[in-house]
Amino acid sequence: MTSKTQTLRFLILSDTHGQDFFDDLEGESHWKQGDMPKADVLELKLAIAGNHDISLDEDASTDPEMLQTHRKVVSMWTDDAAKAAGIHYLTEGFHTFTLNNGATFTIYASPYTPEFNNWAFGYPRSDNHFGPLRNSRNRAESSPAHDIVMTHGPPHGFLDSAHGDHLGCHHLRDAVREARPRLHCFGHVHEGAGAQRVDWDNNSLKTMSASSPSLESPLLLTLENGQNCYPDHTVMVNAAMVDSRNEPVWRSPWVVDMEVVRN
Ligand SMILES: [Zn+2]
Repeated sequence: MTSKTQTLRFLILSDTHGQDFFDDLEGESHWKQGDMPKADVLELKLAIAGNHDISLDEDASTDPEMLQTHRKVVSMWTDDAAKAAGIHYLTEGFHTFTLNNGATFTIYASPYTPEFNNWAFGYPRSDNHFGPLRNSRNRAESSPAHDIVMTHGPPHGFLDSAHGDHLGCHHLRDAVREARPRLHCFGHVHEGAGAQRVDWDNNSLKTMSASSPSLESPLLLTLENGQNCYPDHTVMVNAAMVDSRNEPVWRSPWVVDMEVVRN
């Protein structure tokens, strides 16, 4: 770590499917890393919606009652109480954060996934939905790189296999290959949970760790080289915590230490 970088610790989880993990996550006995912060002292809590979050999708609100519910739920995620708790509900696009210690990072967020059974935040699979991300690379040269991409769905070919098919989005894969974030986290395809490091130039993939079916061992990854705006590698994390909706197997959340630029 140089004097111009700062190591930030990210706790990543997805697809909790209504399960309230935070009592468990706040209990220190559930963490093997002794320095794991409790949820109430996490400075930022960044959240995106997913395809199950119909009430958060204005386009899915087809009658006045649904629209009213939509507004109420959005306000629950964005009101003063949410802000006081450090919650940032991220809509699609780029968001830059600067922490109290001066560390800064940019994140591209998107709740959208290819259409499936009329759930929320869908787009036709043929649409190039991620054009802005794909074209963002030049833009980033004069500002902090987008260190992190956070989408609900996986990119095609990476931690996206279920029942013998790759279910991820081709356009998202192409956009991430262009943008080369240091970390891309997602969920949605529960069967794909895990982590991989992608070497874009050599077109190679390395599995970083097996997922663990327990909350007691969060999985720690360390990403260095925070000043390299356009790294050759992206670490992919599919942080789906539920394995199956019928007989849930709860996996560990992921913990990623990443150097970011400090102002
Ligand atoms: Zn999903």
